[in-house]
Amino acid sequence: MQNNWDVIVIGAGVAGGLAAFDCAHRGLRVLVVEKRSFPRWKVCGCCFNANSLASLSATGLPNLMRDQGAVPLDQLRLGWSGKSLNLELPGGLALSRERFDQALVNAAECAGATLRFRTGAELEETTPEGRMVRLRPPGGAPVERIKGRVVLVAAGLEHQVISPSHVASSKSMPESRLGAGCLIDDDDGTYESGAIHMAIGERGYVGLVRREDGVLNMAAAFDRAVVKSSGGVARAAQIVLSQAGFPLPRTLESSRWQLTPALTRRAGAFAGHRFLLLGDSTGYVEPFTGEGMAWALAAGASVAPFVEEAQGEWTFDLERRWRKRLVDLTISRQRVCSVLSTVLRQPLAASALFNLGSQWPAVPQRVISSLNRVHPLMARS
Ligand SMILES: Cc1cc2nc3c(=O)[nH]c(=O)nc-3n(C[C@H](O)[C@H](O)[C@H](O)COP(=O)(O)OP(=O)(O)OC[C@H]3O[C@@H](n4cnc5c(N)ncnc54)[C@H](O)[C@@H]3O)c2cc1C
Repeated sequence: MQNNWDVIVIGAGVAGGLAAFDCAHRGLRVLVVEKRSFPRWKVCGCCFNANSLASLSATGLPNLMRDQGAVPLDQLRLGWSGKSLNLELPGGLALSRERFDQALVNAAECAGATLRFRTGAELEETTPEGRMVRLRPPGGAPVERIKGRVVLVAAGLEHQVISPSHVASSKSMPESRLGAGCLIDDDDGTYESGAIHMAIGERGYVGLVRREDGVLNMAAAFDRAVVKSSGGVARAAQIVLSQAGFPLPRTLESSRWQLTPALTRRAGAFAGHRFLLLGDSTGYVEPFTGEGMAWALAAGASVAPFVEEAQGEWTFDLERRWRKRLVDLTISRQRVCSVLSTVLRQPLAASALFNLGSQWPAVPQRVISSLNRVHPLMARS
């Protein structure tokens, strides 16, 4: 394998996959390094909103999701303390991460990117015209050192790509919840497709969505203490579903859950010399109706011009403009999600919000619509 690249993309999730496609499409020499083998399942609600579709269209992949059999989502069913609230979702889709992420890297490869799976990557020192990256191939093969003029760090929530002492590494917040997810493929079909079913409990929430293959995808976030005190994740999910008044999937008790590290976090900087961060590597705010992937895809769809510019000299101004671009694309909507998740953790406030929403559904409907409104930067592209 050659060891000099225009851009090395670390992480083949939604942000890295789309960035790799766009960079390769523009003729750059792209290497994507992914530590897992693909296709891979990951903890995620699998819900995409209109902003995700806009980012895909803006980069020339308007049909990718429908070609993969994505399921249209038009309802959000919220449950809290035995009460329910049905809201309309403007133009969402459900698609498994196995299929979506694989389709994105396939598109990147077709556009000319080189892919390496089962290989972990770490940033090393800078050189006058690039950044060294250390690759750890599988099966004890020798470590390799390669160089990129730019490195895109798209390695998700918690990664070991950047040294923890670097300002661009992310730190979790003390109140951060744990994420968790599982698949249930032999339930009784209680949860119909076309809707996001969201059970909100006092110590966490559970989202249920039927995927394109009919399997029920469950994704949740729990207070750390509740996972321990309830005797496991499946039990914590049972408690939240029961508190919300949702039926329990038949095989929930024997389901196998995967936990994530602490969720809510923020990186101290979004760039450093010859590298840019995108997606969850920049930080994480609990999403509600598909915002997480929308933010990651918006970053993936925006980064290629910065990579092209950085084929020449690297400047602080480029880092500053990348930060500004990310703030413009995400931060204001992240604030809305942050406030919502804080309110939903206070039983009295959540109850008041739910009662208000039940009496005047136009109010939560406006919040959902504003979260789902296509960002002008993506609409313009
Ligand atoms: C419980 C839960 C439910 C969610 N539900 C939704 C939802 O319904 N809709 C939504 O929009 N968002 C949702 N999200 C958020 C969404 O999953 C993330 O925002 C999104 O996956 C971020 O994409 P990314 O590309 O930044 O990172 P990821 O998709 O996490 O991809 C990062 C990739 O980098 C790889 N990697 C990590 N370290 C290295 C390394 N050192 N070397 C090489 N590769 C590496 C990983 O293996 C991974 O494949 C949810 C998250 C959680 C926890």
